[in-house]
Amino acid sequence: ELIQLPYAANALEPVISKETIEFHHGKHLQTYVNNLNNLIQGTKFENATLEQIVAESDGAIFNNAGQVLNHTLYFLQFTPQPNKHEPSGKLAEAIKRDFGSFDNFKKEMNNASTTLFGSGWTWLSVDKDGKLHITKEANGSNPWRHGLKPLLGFDVWEHAYYLDYQNRRADHVNKLWEIIDWDAVEKRM
Ligand code: MN
Repeated sequence: ELIQLPYAANALEPVISKETIEFHHGKHLQTYVNNLNNLIQGTKFENATLEQIVAESDGAIFNNAGQVLNHTLYFLQFTPQPNKHEPSGKLAEAIKRDFGSFDNFKKEMNNASTTLFGSGWTWLSVDKDGKLHITKEANGSNPWRHGLKPLLGFDVWEHAYYLDYQNRRADHVNKLWEIIDWDAVEKRM
């Protein structure tokens, strides 16, 4: 099912416009949801979780399931009024341990996002030993594919930013830090 947004379509302005949210959530994500529901009918994935489908499927089912999982995590990691601008607790400690500092982590995440060629995602994820990783995922892939648990994802498909930032992907990514719901991200660890 299409997830409901926990904020109004215009609530993330000026970082993400109402128009972008309406297209991105209401059209792009809805299409991935519809495609996936049609594709899994009569297959072994009919009653599987999204994570299982992403880990085990291929082709069109994988592409659409990956995008449903990606966008579900993406839209639920934002809030119009973050109560803090960097993580705390266990996640903050892990970031300091694995990236040196929060500022350096941001730099690496921004760099991965701007150097990803074509359409895809940049993810912060955690492995089974608790170590953090930044990965670039092409098209609709997701860290689940490699046994990593995704925590925070930046969508760098042009549909995520072109209406607001045109070709300026770096500017878009840099602004996303202002609307991250760190409480929601920490809960995924
Ligand atoms: Mn997208």
